[in-house]
Amino acid sequence: MDITRYDVVIIGGGAAGLSAATTLSRALRSVLVIDSGAPRNAPATGVHGYLSRDGMSPRELLSIGRSEVLSYGAKIIDGEAVSARRTTEGFEVILGDARRFSGRRLLVTTGLTDGLPPIDGLQEQWGRGVVHCPYCHGWEIRGKRIGVLGTGPMSVHQALLFRQWSPDITLFLNDTVEPTEEEWDKLSARSIKVVDGAVASVDAVNGVLTGLTLRQGSSFDIQALAVGTRMEARSALLESLGLSTQVHPMGVGRFIETDATGATAVQGVYAAGNVSNLMAQVITAAAEGVMTSARINADLIEEETRWAVEGRFGPFSAASEAAVSTIVQGLAHHRRRASGVSSWAP
Ligand SMILES: Cc1cc2nc3c(=O)[nH]c(=O)nc-3n(C[C@H](O)[C@H](O)[C@H](O)COP(=O)(O)OP(=O)(O)OC[C@H]3O[C@@H](n4cnc5c(N)ncnc54)[C@H](O)[C@@H]3O)c2cc1C
Repeated sequence: MDITRYDVVIIGGGAAGLSAATTLSRALRSVLVIDSGAPRNAPATGVHGYLSRDGMSPRELLSIGRSEVLSYGAKIIDGEAVSARRTTEGFEVILGDARRFSGRRLLVTTGLTDGLPPIDGLQEQWGRGVVHCPYCHGWEIRGKRIGVLGTGPMSVHQALLFRQWSPDITLFLNDTVEPTEEEWDKLSARSIKVVDGAVASVDAVNGVLTGLTLRQGSSFDIQALAVGTRMEARSALLESLGLSTQVHPMGVGRFIETDATGATAVQGVYAAGNVSNLMAQVITAAAEGVMTSARINADLIEEETRWAVEGRFGPFSAASEAAVSTIVQGLAHHRRRASGVSSWAP
């Protein structure tokens, strides 16, 4: 059976995971990235809002990221991690094809899934005619006839938000949203049209979104549809370690809670990117990967320093005998030896 040990095993090779892998490899850590190859933004033609990479295809961005990671000596394998368990030396990760890998620390950067409403034709347009985030797609659909699909309590907010990008916004209540008096006032004040009734289909001609049809039959011409998705952290691996997801305060989905440095409630297990921050964009996920990897490196250094101290002063250990002998040989020599403490680590 293929069992290999690393300082850090990273599960998920998107922006968060690859950024973390670069930082950790540059810190001379042995790193394995396990990736199933399905980044969240795969349906989009380009990444926007990532300084110096504007419009680059999501696949190309990750391909460049992979090359950078590999150039620093990390290993990347394709596969799906299905569970993990704690061992005496850290964690063991088990893949769907039964391969196993061990890491002293785990970093989970598996992202999230966007749950879409079950409306005919909607899934086919996802990431092109159907969008969710004005900062990712707003510029591309500026000034167009934009529909906003009612999916929950945030839909009125989404309509008001997209109003920044176009004067022609229609909110489709979709038998799901009931604006409050105050919200009706806001929608009216911003000239946002409101259409009652359940949406039956998202219509397209030659793959280009053209409109919406309600269940009662009427159709509306729109050029883009904004949809608030149900964002669910891809958390199965973390759940196998005893963690569970929390409801997001805005009611938009579920995420894995971490502290500000990316540490989860399970010691030695970290998370970054969309799995723990549903709102993270690509550059934010990448930045979280960097920050969390610095925390992981500090954690490993602390452990290695403790090992070194224990090795030097522990009763009758080879390391403590060597240390005593060094001290006896002279202070200056001892100082030189002590500067190489990491070699004492078990
Ligand atoms: C349609 C669309 C367009 C978007 N456009 C933009 C944009 O223009 N600009 C922007 O900043 N943001 C955009 N986003 C948001 C962007 O997708 C996320 O911010 C970003 O992908 C988060 O990075 P991540 O590394 O956390 O997760 P991801 O990029 O989703 O990467 C997670 C990786 O983990 C892998 N994985 C998951 N589970 C496992 C497992 N069990 N084992 C192994 N591997 C696993 C996945 O295959 C994937 O490769 C868009 C999102 C969507 C849906």
